[in-house]
Amino acid sequence: MAGIYLHIPFCKQKCHYCNFFSIASVKSKSSFVDAVCAEIEMQKNYLQNQEIRTIYFGGGTPSMLSISELNRIIQQLHDHFTIPDDVEITLEANPDDITVDYLTALRQSKVNRLSMGIQSFYDDDLHYLNRVHSSNQAVAAIEQSKKAGFDNLTIDLIYGIPTLTDEKWKANIESFLQFGINHLSAYALTVEAKTALSHLIGKGNLPPVDEQQSIRHFNILMEQMEANGFVHYEISNFAKPGFYSRHNSIYWLGGHYLGLGPSAHSFNGVSRQWNVSNLSQYLKLQDEKTVLFEAEILTMEQQYNEYVMTSLRTSWGCDLEHIRNVFGEYFELYCRKIAEKYIKQDKLLLKENRLFLTQTGKLFADGIASDLFK
Ligand code: SF4
Repeated sequence: MAGIYLHIPFCKQKCHYCNFFSIASVKSKSSFVDAVCAEIEMQKNYLQNQEIRTIYFGGGTPSMLSISELNRIIQQLHDHFTIPDDVEITLEANPDDITVDYLTALRQSKVNRLSMGIQSFYDDDLHYLNRVHSSNQAVAAIEQSKKAGFDNLTIDLIYGIPTLTDEKWKANIESFLQFGINHLSAYALTVEAKTALSHLIGKGNLPPVDEQQSIRHFNILMEQMEANGFVHYEISNFAKPGFYSRHNSIYWLGGHYLGLGPSAHSFNGVSRQWNVSNLSQYLKLQDEKTVLFEAEILTMEQQYNEYVMTSLRTSWGCDLEHIRNVFGEYFELYCRKIAEKYIKQDKLLLKENRLFLTQTGKLFADGIASDLFK
């Protein structure tokens, strides 16, 4: 199973917490679309004729593309890859870009899954994050998307925002549930180095993020979502059966993917490569007939570490038999030995030769995974 990711690097303004590559100007949008179409042709052999099961427009803000720009990119993908009719095509959208006309035209395109960056249904949280949209726009965008027939809809929410009390967080989850949406991605607010958030907190202009608050919110999240029939299938993702993100599952299950656009990552089983995180350098690919990227061949240790990190975060668990078959007995015994102490602490569960994070373990997922690293 293989997928294609397209990084659309435009945003109306930069959110305080964001460390993705994006720019707050659409001056180069049409040159970008030309460049990405050229890159599609250049990279047509990267996935070695594997069928493309998923296409994901991420960013940045893909909903800043017009429908004709989106259709042109999708057509170019169809012209150069094997893509079945039931391909999942996701578009990340921001509520302020959503209009009835846009949604109507989008329904005529091949996009069949919408991922809406809601983050919170409260204006003070959105203000803290420096999001462009308002809570009213968030509600309207969801209602209009559902009305337009996008049943395969997911939203993003952020918890651990200093302005988000426990009661407001519960209400945010409740609002999500009332919309009858089948998928939720919920992330803890993290303060990444060199972001505006880090700078503003450092200067005392914004209140800091409290880890204990994030832990409380994560526990509330797990409780409310599971009580409402959602499967916690990845540490930050909850879905009703049949609505798992096919695209992200490719990343989590070690599948292959091609990333197109500036800063996009690709993986074909052995090597990982990432495009230059600079739009003007990326745009040169058309003149120079080559994409600027860096690549690394993953060592056995790196491949093992990556498998442990991604699999442990999912409801499919970390398969010790897979480790033995792919990486050898030495890695399996190593993993099993380190896991023992976490099993005793009730943070990991060993079942049918797979390791799973328990509810308590989910609070320490990154620490446990890195301890299992080689
Ligand atoms: S909309 Fe998304 S990509 Fe753009 S600045 Fe905000 S968080 Fe970053």
